[in-house]
Amino acid sequence: MGTHEVTNQVAPLVGHNLYSRDRTLVEAVRREGAGWAEAELARLGGLLGGEEAQRWGFDANENEPVLHTHDAAGNRRDEVVFHPSWHQLMRTSVEARIHSLPWVEARAGAYVARAGLLMLTAENEPGHCCPISMTFSSLATLRTDADLAREWEPRIVAASYDPRFRPASEKSGILVGMGMTEKQGGSDVRANTTRAERMGNSREYLITGHKWFCSAPMCDAFLILAQTSKGLSCFFLPRWKPSGERNGFFIQRLKRKMGNRSNASSEVEFAEAWAQLVGEEGRGVQTIIEMVNHTRLDCVIASAGLMRQAAVQAVHYARHRRAFGKRLIEQPLMQNVLADLIVESETATLLMVRLAKAFDARASDEPERGFARIVAAIAKYWICKRAGMQIGEALECLGGNGYVEESILPRLYREAPLYSIWEGSGNVICLDILRALGKKQGQRRDAENRGAASSAEALIAEMRLGAEADPRIKTFVSEAEAMLVKYGRLGSEVDGALAEREARRLAEKLALALQASLIVRYGSPAVADAFCASRIAGDSGYTFGTLPGGVATGGILEACPSFK
Ligand SMILES: Cc1cc2nc3c(=O)[nH]c(=O)nc-3n(C[C@H](O)[C@H](O)[C@H](O)COP(=O)(O)OP(=O)(O)OC[C@H]3O[C@@H](n4cnc5c(N)ncnc54)[C@H](O)[C@@H]3O)c2cc1C
Repeated sequence: MGTHEVTNQVAPLVGHNLYSRDRTLVEAVRREGAGWAEAELARLGGLLGGEEAQRWGFDANENEPVLHTHDAAGNRRDEVVFHPSWHQLMRTSVEARIHSLPWVEARAGAYVARAGLLMLTAENEPGHCCPISMTFSSLATLRTDADLAREWEPRIVAASYDPRFRPASEKSGILVGMGMTEKQGGSDVRANTTRAERMGNSREYLITGHKWFCSAPMCDAFLILAQTSKGLSCFFLPRWKPSGERNGFFIQRLKRKMGNRSNASSEVEFAEAWAQLVGEEGRGVQTIIEMVNHTRLDCVIASAGLMRQAAVQAVHYARHRRAFGKRLIEQPLMQNVLADLIVESETATLLMVRLAKAFDARASDEPERGFARIVAAIAKYWICKRAGMQIGEALECLGGNGYVEESILPRLYREAPLYSIWEGSGNVICLDILRALGKKQGQRRDAENRGAASSAEALIAEMRLGAEADPRIKTFVSEAEAMLVKYGRLGSEVDGALAEREARRLAEKLALALQASLIVRYGSPAVADAFCASRIAGDSGYTFGTLPGGVATGGILEACPSFK
């Protein structure tokens, strides 16, 4: 049917290589030792910026997964059925080895390379990144148990996506999820009531209880926490028993979430589910913590991806939409907003890659181990918090079109708060920063003391690297260091409640000091100047688009080839 002529509507951004066009990411990947992965990054960036993969993202979210608790005869089925686009997304990510890269490619830069791959993937469709991330992270814990790792790792790291609901032994590749959160508490997992009964003298147990949030329940196995007589312990719980029967793992219902619709998050009951102990009985939190640390890294990576996509979409729209006789991008106030969004995205990318580099180096480098420990928490807090605000503003750059699903912005916006909640909500993460700094000095053991000292020293060293480049940063870093002294790191004892009450202020200060140090060394001078003027010298307002008068906002848009 013929219709009226359409003018001044912006064509979707299709055929944009998510990797090659992101100069900041490209340079960071090269700088941090992952140049060997560039061909794969460019291939994936091209695929995910193309129309077909974009369609997978929309289709997987418009066609929600369906839980089938029973079959026609009334038998338990406990299966979630996904749209084919979900499987395309999963297959693409598994074949790109985003679920396994550093575990199979033990070479320098593997974490950075994978961070790049995951960031690109989150830009297109973040929902399916959840099982990819949990599978990747599970190996950090599973490897603490040589027997379990020998048995399960080959199928976990396989670059083969096999969605069939069959025993793991019959599959070419498997996925692993996690179950910690219960109805009575997620942050304080010591409140878990799920019980584990030992079978004879073996490392096999029967698990009875529930998990209030269990994402991606079609994973083939889960790392979970349950109580034994010795306390909270970690278990590996597959969906099928070694005998080939289904395990006592029942999906009660799917969560009706605010965020993505593509991934299923569920409530599950365990009825004498067969599981194997991982690590020592009674040390469940210490055993699963490495999985948690890896998923925190992924929250940072995915958030940086969402922010990048949001900023790119906003700039693309403003380049083509006209209002009041000019393109939006030529309007001075819109330039201020867009420039501010870019500043936020660029500094998020830089901090994310720096953290991934620390994960790469931490096995053999003590300062990097300390850096990774504390910056995983600082970056998780700050970048995940900023994502929601930045994306909300980017959405508005498209006016009413930004509020409409086809623009992708609503999907990004709904997803953003998840990364701030999951694996440690904001407050819990800030308290973890205090823990990493070793506030409770008298009560710690020597190893913990050394770890805390090394975290603080590595943090200060990194912040100081940028201090000489700009007097504003120098002053800011001195203030950050004074806060570290105040909160106990450098020897003084402080009131615990005071430190806790102000922990968000500390987290924010440390995050900004780190971002300043990175942007002044590795970013474009225009972006670095805007960051220092607004975030470091404090000459800005409470919303995006409040960069001060002296900042060359138009220059930021011009100086950022990746946003053209
Ligand atoms: C979509 C989605 C998927 C999820 N998937 C999984 C999964 O697969 N597996 C899994 O185990 N969990 C999963 N979770 C659960 C998630 O990890 C928890 O929701 C999160 O850890 C917070 O726990 P909670 O909801 O029990 O909140 P609570 O622990 O009750 O916390 C509520 C609030 O209190 C704050 N708070 C807690 N303690 C303190 C304190 N001491 N001082 C100050 N403030 C404090 C928290 O920061 C938070 O803001 C998922 C959550 C979501 C939303």
